[in-house]
Amino acid sequence: MVRSQKMRIYLDHNATTPVDAAVVDTVSDVLSNCYGNASSVHTFGQSAKALLDDARRAVAALVDAQSSEIVFTGGGTESDNLAIRGAAGRIKPSGRRHLITSTIEHEAVLNTIKDLTQHDWTATYLPVGATGVVNPSDLEAAISEQTALVSIMHANNEIGTLQPISELASIAHAYGALFHTDAVQTAGKHPISVSELNVDLLSISGHKFNGPKGVGALWIKRGTRLTSSLTGGRQERNRRAGTENVAGISGLGIAAKIALNKLDHDTSRLGQLRDRLEAEILCNVPGTEVNGTGQRVTNTSNISFLGIEAEALLIALDLEGIAVSTGSACSSGTLEPSHVLRAMGFSPQRAQSSIRFSLGLGNTDEQITHVIRSLPPIVSKLRQLSGHQTALRVS
Ligand code: PLP
Repeated sequence: MVRSQKMRIYLDHNATTPVDAAVVDTVSDVLSNCYGNASSVHTFGQSAKALLDDARRAVAALVDAQSSEIVFTGGGTESDNLAIRGAAGRIKPSGRRHLITSTIEHEAVLNTIKDLTQHDWTATYLPVGATGVVNPSDLEAAISEQTALVSIMHANNEIGTLQPISELASIAHAYGALFHTDAVQTAGKHPISVSELNVDLLSISGHKFNGPKGVGALWIKRGTRLTSSLTGGRQERNRRAGTENVAGISGLGIAAKIALNKLDHDTSRLGQLRDRLEAEILCNVPGTEVNGTGQRVTNTSNISFLGIEAEALLIALDLEGIAVSTGSACSSGTLEPSHVLRAMGFSPQRAQSSIRFSLGLGNTDEQITHVIRSLPPIVSKLRQLSGHQTALRVS
């Protein structure tokens, strides 16, 4: 007897992405066949070093940079830590002790800055308002000759809004401060040119663009000096100690090559799918509203379903085979309303009724049609259960 298989639809690509088959093959091949230590002088070591060089060129090309400016790390969190702690450590002797970031950053940035504020640093958190975008005039008002570093993310992981990075970076530079951007949600999914962005430091994570988990990179503009956050050997030109993860880095390099080759096509295809999903939800499900009205990455849509607990909707959708999220994977399970939606001025109720749909390469028209058909009856059933009327306005 043939049992019909439920369609499984993954719409949580901002949490992580499926690993590309070519990446799996590369990682496996390198693990089996190229186990040399890239610092060794013999042929085994030099073969491993050649793989690192190749991956470095690929990751540099992804962000339109020089390969000597790429430092491999253990992922986005470590890249953010190296950028912020490394810049702070290097600049501290100059007497500057002030950091600026935004209220909607990922925890990797927020908690790193919070930690520094317990050690002689002060910090200013720029607001975003209902658009989910930082206003450059707020940076102008907050910055001074005391500011060492400004760290503002390229695109937000929960709502997808893109920040006016080049404009913000110009302001930082006018005051002699460095500028870091967490590009974990854009690298490999959105065109990036570090010179156009005008930044000094840019964080990348492999698993957000079909590469392996636990590997990433920090782009460090030539001439920018950082203190190393790991003490140990002299790997990565003294900027990141520890024997390199050659297999993971090779996988990252392949993922970068694949992403760069298809970037324009994939970005616009996902944008069409996302726009259709969003338009149909707004049209067919009463009491819904999009969170984040500024310019966005094309794969992300964050929608409030008034009168519904997002966790209940997430579970109901999961039972239908549809995987979405209530926000950042790192803070899910905390039951706290999203700090991003709260920072945008939304009520705890609206924040707690919000679902993030984040699309990726495997998503098809057919899948989006299935989601659009599945949602209205699920939402209306959940609203009946919670005794809510449907013809409601979102606040
Ligand atoms: N920054 C942003 C914007 C993210 O979305 C994430 C992961 O969700 C990170 C940093 C952390 O990256 P990683 O999971 O590679 O440590």
